[in-house]
Amino acid sequence: MTTMNLVDPIALDAQHVLQVYRRAPVVFESGKGSALFTKTGERYLDLISGVGVASLGHGHPGLARALAEQSATLIHTSNLFHHPLQSELASRLSAITGLPRAFFCNSGAEAVEACLKFSRRFWHAQGTPRAGFVAFDHSFHGRTMGAVSVTWDEHYRGPFGPLVPGVTFVDPRDTAAIAAAITQETAAVIVEPIQGEGGVRPIPQAAADAIAAACRRTGALLIADEVQCGLGRTGQLFHSPALGLSPDLMALGKALGAGVPIGAALFSDRVAAAAKPGDHGSTYGGNLLACRAALTFLDELDGGLLNHVARAGEHLERGLRAIASRQPAIRDVRGAGLMWGLEIDRPAAAIVDAARERRLLINRTSDTVIRLLPPYVITEREIDEALPLLEAAIGAVVEASDK
Ligand code: PLP
Repeated sequence: MTTMNLVDPIALDAQHVLQVYRRAPVVFESGKGSALFTKTGERYLDLISGVGVASLGHGHPGLARALAEQSATLIHTSNLFHHPLQSELASRLSAITGLPRAFFCNSGAEAVEACLKFSRRFWHAQGTPRAGFVAFDHSFHGRTMGAVSVTWDEHYRGPFGPLVPGVTFVDPRDTAAIAAAITQETAAVIVEPIQGEGGVRPIPQAAADAIAAACRRTGALLIADEVQCGLGRTGQLFHSPALGLSPDLMALGKALGAGVPIGAALFSDRVAAAAKPGDHGSTYGGNLLACRAALTFLDELDGGLLNHVARAGEHLERGLRAIASRQPAIRDVRGAGLMWGLEIDRPAAAIVDAARERRLLINRTSDTVIRLLPPYVITEREIDEALPLLEAAIGAVVEASDK
């Protein structure tokens, strides 16, 4: 029996849940589109979508139907057997990424982990093992040992050492350093085409050019971490092609399952050729429920949602730039599509609280950056509703802290 309705969930969390999250003191019980509702029916406009996950918004009828149907049919069989949805999903992802093989897992970090492992596996199979990884300042790739080892911020790494050795971090603005760091010892370079957690920082075109040139020169593999910025988030399917990058491996997650946990690592033929049965695995990875969610998401993306993201994204960008032109505390507006960061001239945590007081959900990343990752289904009307709330929240905090 669940005690959910008898006990205050915030108090119970404080007693029994590992205290690794700084949760806001609000409990959501339902959602519809871009809105979340508390038990008492208070409506909040959601511009963070479960950190870029609820791509189809909340309570999406098509997803709900597909999941209900799938749950009643078959949820999980493990990877001991075939089922009809995993290979279909792999072929759909192959068609949109150009990377012909997929490994399914349950999160972005696991997708990154698989990319790191199979980069080394590739070099091992060549008979010329390479262990090194090159990653970038402000990168974030997840919390597992491998993923956190290529994550830049010391705050995520420090308490967990020793980490995976052989990682070099480079400033993406320093093309000479990029060229110097990528060598014949480098198994792979891992890059987020738009860095998310690190502060919504698009990788400069010069950095992308330097990465591509150094990979060509040294043979180092290229891993694109498109967990946050991929799968339509920017109004384009992926952001690597926008930078002229052709990755050998790609990590996906977040939007793919529209809320059902699923991650995918995608591989070029030559990297995939090194993989042997037993090399890697996941009990849940690519089960029927998760694949059904991802196929439903891809159907929606194909069926007009991608164009909607591009249009809504332009509308959002115009609004954000207008706010920035009126509010000098905003130092920079960065991003694309429905992925935006506002660099503020002071810590941004209070703005997140002030927005929530106005029933607007946003998030802070990298201390001074407000991040917006609305659901792909957000309407222009909802954007018009959100923008004044955001402007008021920033204004109130700036005014109070300037006093
Ligand atoms: N890679 C990127 C670019 C991310 O933004 C994240 C999560 O924020 C991850 C990997 C890790 O994903 P997950 O939290 O699903 O493990």
